[in-house]
Amino acid sequence: MKFVRFDDDGRAAVGILDEGGRVLRTGLTDMREVIERDGAVQALSAAEPVVGARLLSPLERPGKILCAGINYVSHKDENPAAVFPSVPFFFSKLPTAVVGPDDEIVLPEPTSQVDYEVELAVVVGRRARGLSEEDALRCVFGYTVANDVSARDVQFVDNQITLGKGFDSFCPLGPAIVPAAELPDPQHVTVASYVNGELRQHESTSGMLFPVARLLAFASHHVTLEPGDVITTGTPAGVGTFRSPPDYLRPGDVVEVEVDVIGRMRNPVVAGW
Ligand code: MG
Repeated sequence: MKFVRFDDDGRAAVGILDEGGRVLRTGLTDMREVIERDGAVQALSAAEPVVGARLLSPLERPGKILCAGINYVSHKDENPAAVFPSVPFFFSKLPTAVVGPDDEIVLPEPTSQVDYEVELAVVVGRRARGLSEEDALRCVFGYTVANDVSARDVQFVDNQITLGKGFDSFCPLGPAIVPAAELPDPQHVTVASYVNGELRQHESTSGMLFPVARLLAFASHHVTLEPGDVITTGTPAGVGTFRSPPDYLRPGDVVEVEVDVIGRMRNPVVAGW
């Protein structure tokens, strides 16, 4: 079972994505209600599957989006300037950057070097502080997929990451949330990305430098994690900026990012504002 948010005749609604790929209405409108119920949500017994539902980001506006950087050995190795952090390294993406799994990535005027990064994303289910690594996964509601879209020229020039990774549309999330109970070991799933159908990234999450539990424990010693927060866990090798020559996204491109057990997002790239 997976949870999705979808456009139900102009209104946001929460649905259950069944094994056949059908969206079933739940009667709820906000994913936070599902999180508060710890996923104990039923499809409406009388509900017909929703045909042709346009999926929305599973969370409309996360309270915070904390993102691990340099967290795959392979991504560190492809970046000549990177050094292994001795402890997890986090930045944040802006909640206004979130878009849905089929929405457009808009290339803004201040950048010409927009890049993709597939990431496994954690959805926090419980308020948590000071977690031990052993207990950390207990705060997880589920997992989804994020594309940590990044403007490299902005990111590397201003030496801080908020704006370069925070443009509107730079955080596609989705297509669904898989409950933690159905993904007990987040270190053995495969993340992958494609540009115009060409495979660019493909790696197991076992390649993480700091596993998900360590990331959550570390973050929770600095900030209180709250239900609906999103923690992204880093990206493996294969991003455009470290190709030879570098290869950035252009209008007309289609970027797909997926985690095998969760699903795939497909975001067209368009010229922007
Ligand atoms: Mg990233």
